[in-house]
Amino acid sequence: MSDGTIDDAATAFAPPMLGEPYLLTPGPLTTAAAVKQAMLRDWGSWDGDFRALTAELRRRLLALIDDRDGAFDCVPMQGSGTACVEAMLGTLVPREGKVLVLANGAYGLRAAQILRYLGRAHTLIDKGDYLPPRGEEVAAALDADPAITHVLVIHCETSSGILNPVQEISEAVYARGRKLLVDSMSAFGAVPADVNALRYEALVSSANKCIEGVPGFGFVIARKSELEAAQRNCHSLSLDLHDQWKVMEKTGQWRFTPPTHVVAAFIEALHLHEAEGGVAGRGARYANNRNVLVAGMRAAGFETLLAERWLSPIIVTFFCPADPNFSFPRFYDLMKAKGFLIYPGKLTAVESFRVGCIGHFDAHVMRAVVEAACRSLEEMGVASAAPAPHVLGERARLVA
Ligand SMILES: *Cc1c(COP(=O)(O)O)cnc(C)c1O
Repeated sequence: MSDGTIDDAATAFAPPMLGEPYLLTPGPLTTAAAVKQAMLRDWGSWDGDFRALTAELRRRLLALIDDRDGAFDCVPMQGSGTACVEAMLGTLVPREGKVLVLANGAYGLRAAQILRYLGRAHTLIDKGDYLPPRGEEVAAALDADPAITHVLVIHCETSSGILNPVQEISEAVYARGRKLLVDSMSAFGAVPADVNALRYEALVSSANKCIEGVPGFGFVIARKSELEAAQRNCHSLSLDLHDQWKVMEKTGQWRFTPPTHVVAAFIEALHLHEAEGGVAGRGARYANNRNVLVAGMRAAGFETLLAERWLSPIIVTFFCPADPNFSFPRFYDLMKAKGFLIYPGKLTAVESFRVGCIGHFDAHVMRAVVEAACRSLEEMGVASAAPAPHVLGERARLVA
């Protein structure tokens, strides 16, 4: 719900329906009315009309990586994003393979946890919360361990908002004859993943992030030769990407009940994505959202976790104010009362909160968010938004 501070007439983005708050979260997120309306019809999963939706979905997603040679295919998979990461790792990494996981936050650590469950050999570079893995250290790790076959990188590590340098990592990986897998969950659709510019074997994303659909499935975009070679790798019937691909190629259908309404909504979201100018247009709006948010919050005295050069256009982490009157649960409730759902922090060491820049809204909403944050601090009796000096000292020490 707009709280009156947003000039709705000045934005092409209608506010959420029925008094819903804006979801300033990394998915599920605020979707367009047309996306929600697309779910008001039932589809037979076997029927040709639904098969046509599935074919359109795959074709449109592949167009986003500009696969001119037709070397890649897109395999949608039922479930959460994590299920699709598990499908990608379980299917594309051979049982005798070994994965180097590049972690700098919760999602990298989760990928390692998945490999533990799968019983796949793996090793970890853990950079903590503030810093990206760099090409040189990936190169050194690969040189030191010839058993490593695959490297997994998180494109945007959503737990901090850091945009990892996938290009230099890809170069290091392929210079050593290994293969790159990308968790592009929160980046795909807004950050380029053009296969002519960035080399990888597969990436994974889901319906409810930058394409701005509703949750219910994800998709893996993979080199066909990798999908072909992956027969009988997978530990799980439901998550077997190879089998899902083969059946989809043959019948045009998902193997098991697809989330029909979610797929219909996603097609509408893909149309809106195209109308906005595709990856470049979507990325530009999110970057503008981020710029307005960060400038406004800094002017109000808040500090971002990350140094400027690693800030993504997806989500921004702010340190909690040190003022003893500040309480995150109370701040959350005050923001919600003003029409904005923010996101708790996900850092191991310090208190923080996150504000998403992705979803169906523009910078008008970000200005209203800053305004709402300032008023919420006033209501709590917080005089300064500044974090504790030791937090900033720690950050300076780590990023030096
Ligand atoms: C959202 C996200 C996931 C998957 O999350 P689910 O809650 O399982 O949908 C995985 N990796 C990253 C980087 C994400 O942002």
